[in-house]
Amino acid sequence: MPVTLRLKDVEVPATNGSTDAQLAAAVAQRLGLPADALLSLVIRKKSLDARRKSRIVYHYQVDVDLEDEAAVLRTSDSQVEVAPTEAAADPLEGIAKGSYRFRHMPIIIGSGPAGTFAALALAQAGQPCMIIERGEAVEQRLRTVNNLRRDGTFEGESNYCFGEGGAGTFSDGKLTCGRNHPLVKFLFNQWVEFGAPDEILYDAHPHIGTDYLLRIAKNQRQHLEQIGCQYLFGRRFIDITAGGSAARYRIKLDDGTTLLTDHLVLAIGHSARDTYEMLLERGLAIAPKPFAMGARFEHPQDVIDKIQFGNQCDLPPAEYKLAAHTQDRGIWTFCMCPGGHLLPTNAQPNHLAINGMSYHARNSGFANAAVVVNVLREDFYRGHPLDGMRFQAAIERQAFAAGGGNYMSPAQRMQDFMVGRASTGELRSTYKPGVSSARLDQVLPQFIVDALRQAVVDYNKKMHGFISKDALVVGVETKTSSPIVMLRDKSLQSISHPGLFPAGEGAGFAGGIVSASLDGVRIGRAVMDDAIATALAERIH
Ligand SMILES: Cc1cc2nc3c(=O)[nH]c(=O)nc-3n(C[C@H](O)[C@H](O)[C@H](O)COP(=O)(O)OP(=O)(O)OC[C@H]3O[C@@H](n4cnc5c(N)ncnc54)[C@H](O)[C@@H]3O)c2cc1C
Repeated sequence: MPVTLRLKDVEVPATNGSTDAQLAAAVAQRLGLPADALLSLVIRKKSLDARRKSRIVYHYQVDVDLEDEAAVLRTSDSQVEVAPTEAAADPLEGIAKGSYRFRHMPIIIGSGPAGTFAALALAQAGQPCMIIERGEAVEQRLRTVNNLRRDGTFEGESNYCFGEGGAGTFSDGKLTCGRNHPLVKFLFNQWVEFGAPDEILYDAHPHIGTDYLLRIAKNQRQHLEQIGCQYLFGRRFIDITAGGSAARYRIKLDDGTTLLTDHLVLAIGHSARDTYEMLLERGLAIAPKPFAMGARFEHPQDVIDKIQFGNQCDLPPAEYKLAAHTQDRGIWTFCMCPGGHLLPTNAQPNHLAINGMSYHARNSGFANAAVVVNVLREDFYRGHPLDGMRFQAAIERQAFAAGGGNYMSPAQRMQDFMVGRASTGELRSTYKPGVSSARLDQVLPQFIVDALRQAVVDYNKKMHGFISKDALVVGVETKTSSPIVMLRDKSLQSISHPGLFPAGEGAGFAGGIVSASLDGVRIGRAVMDDAIATALAERIH
């Protein structure tokens, strides 16, 4: 029987880009065959190696089909092997149709990655659910956020954090994760199925880009609607009470609608501060959790390219990832966006927080990265579970005022930030509606400023030229992760509210698109397991 062969570590020089023909030639040469002997070639892994600037290369792992693979296996080096079959896991493996029972549709609050993948996991079993989202569907949301970028018109219910697809819809769509988890394969296959470029399946640093993410969100919605899911956009979940004998819970939306459910997934993200307050009042088990905070650093992309690649051209925009330490803090770069744009990502009016996004082509000509410092419990905790959230909000209000009170972001040249001086002259940034010169070193808490300054010195040693005249510190980056955790038990239900499933980043169980999606899938499975237990109990009685 013909088998597919796998070749590891095929090297292709990165000069003049890397083409399919160059790769095929390198593979054929490794196998000692003419290029037309390859019946098919599939890339399994691809990474750029720029450690030696004089010889920047792509490393590939590929699967090939040949006329006579047995001959190659007999004669080739140990880097050629029979390709293993790598099936993606089925999140609902072992669940038989009819083995579960729902009195009411499961309800999911939030259409971000966690909520959407909880719905998609349920959809694997053909089980529809209702998805309630305070923001708009992507088509309208795009117009609303463009208004914010154009003239600072902020819409409290639909913005860069709230709306279909969640916080990461307008993002770089970086898919940071280990690839070996079988459910991660399921996620990546789903993204491709809904429109992501195939290369995310093999790139060492996969990213989707905002242009594709918008399309994916719409395709996911259409798929879920086809199996009977219902979306309620522009509706905010504002209350939860016991449902009596009819259901575990009765929930209330801001338009007065009340709904009954036995399974409520809370995938609200970490910006819904009003919902956190309400849930705490209703007795949900919530505990404070440390997080991280800092600012965005932004450079002209060619500064970073030059540092990383020297004079080599025709390469993708360069990335970087750096870490430093003070005696008691870590400082690290996070969510780096090559060729990206800076965005206002506050979710409350008269606050300011920023984050980065990019289109798939990563072609803005600027590179930005969050540089964040860990914020310890003792920095904010005064005895209330939401003290971390209030600490974030206070800094966002100061940043809003420092930027001029119109959603312009405070910004400072890195050189000026280092010595505590206001910047003069034009500050070139991708941030819209625009940056205004301000003393970010007076907006951020002193411990963060001290740590960032120390890190910049360290980064400049590792990446000579990092402190450059056009480099900016733009701020503030307050919401790298949730400031709370919604405590859940082994069955992934709230320890205070059985049948309520806290999910994703807002619940404190994820920090990014992949981990939030993965948590969503697990929650979908947990909802099914609970419905199976219900069906079993009914049969026994
Ligand atoms: C600009 C930006 C860029 C990012 N870039 C990346 C990246 O490149 N890679 C990466 O891994 N991560 C990135 N992230 C982080 C990533 O987006 C989040 O980790 C992820 O979206 C969390 O998913 P989630 O489903 O838990 O929550 P969210 O995506 O925040 O979704 C929560 C949803 O719940 C809705 N909601 C909240 N409260 C209510 C309510 N009361 N009623 C109804 N609906 C409600 C919100 O409107 C929102 O749509 C980025 C984030 C931002 C803001």
